[in-house]
Amino acid sequence: MTRLPDEIVVLERGWLSSNNVLLLDPDTATLIDSGYVAHAPQTVALVRAQLGGRSLARLINTHCHSDHMGGNAAIRRAFGADIIIPSGYAPTIEAWDEVGLQLAGSGQRAERFGFDAVADAGDRFQLAGLEWEALSAPGHDRHALIFHCAERRILISGDALWANGFGAMFDSVLGVGDALAETRKTLDRIALLAVDIVIPGHGAPFTDFAAALERAYKRIEAFEEDPVRMGKNALRACFTFAMIEHQSMARKSLPDYLAATDLYRTLNERYFRLPYDVLAQQLVADLVRAGVLEQDDDRVRVRPSSAPARGAVFAGNA
Ligand SMILES: [Zn+2]
Repeated sequence: MTRLPDEIVVLERGWLSSNNVLLLDPDTATLIDSGYVAHAPQTVALVRAQLGGRSLARLINTHCHSDHMGGNAAIRRAFGADIIIPSGYAPTIEAWDEVGLQLAGSGQRAERFGFDAVADAGDRFQLAGLEWEALSAPGHDRHALIFHCAERRILISGDALWANGFGAMFDSVLGVGDALAETRKTLDRIALLAVDIVIPGHGAPFTDFAAALERAYKRIEAFEEDPVRMGKNALRACFTFAMIEHQSMARKSLPDYLAATDLYRTLNERYFRLPYDVLAQQLVADLVRAGVLEQDDDRVRVRPSSAPARGAVFAGNA
């Protein structure tokens, strides 16, 4: 079985947080992505437990969605790490533009942070005793970077490629860009890389690169054929995220909540055109069927089984 080098520790996180990838050098370490703000104390504790006395020199973000950068400020406070973001995010982070960061319109949160440097496609990093190249991976996020180590055939893929799919196609569903076409191009570029192990932004590291690519292409095709399905996918993903943060919500508040949140309103106007009480009813019924939510007469709540995982550690075997 293909192994990750001992110097690479993957903290696999549950809902709300991205994975955190720790790359260890003899005296220092680098963290890729910092999770969601609500989990920041847990992220700091998990990272501290793995540092083994090293200093955390830098934190690099694959992209600046709330579940990947929400813990940046806490990591900086705890370890003094330099923060490096994809260059495309520099103006948005500098201005802390909550609309541009998809915080304001989605009901998500993050703690404001500053950055020390930017990363661009083609930049090379020496991490965990290996050379990594940053590659651009637009689609799920137009500024996203992924990191490839050709020597050990490892890809840190963020939300551009998961074992089963990729992150939501926000630019497409919001009508501000063609995330599907960008994703297809990104997958075409990823497919040319030498890869034995993928460390995704969510879920366990995996070795079946070819099968993951095939599933990703199938998903693109399905979305191209049926854009409403893509809209539904984004709606479900974002509402599940919100429900896990809130844990429970009053059923009668849901139509107003959906109508008042830009993201859901835009999705409804573009794809569903339903009265908000019907949209809420259908969405909740969908997620109850999927085993994510349960409901009684008054409230909708997250089923305990979908609670955030505790931070499984993958070191060595992927
Ligand atoms: Zn993302």
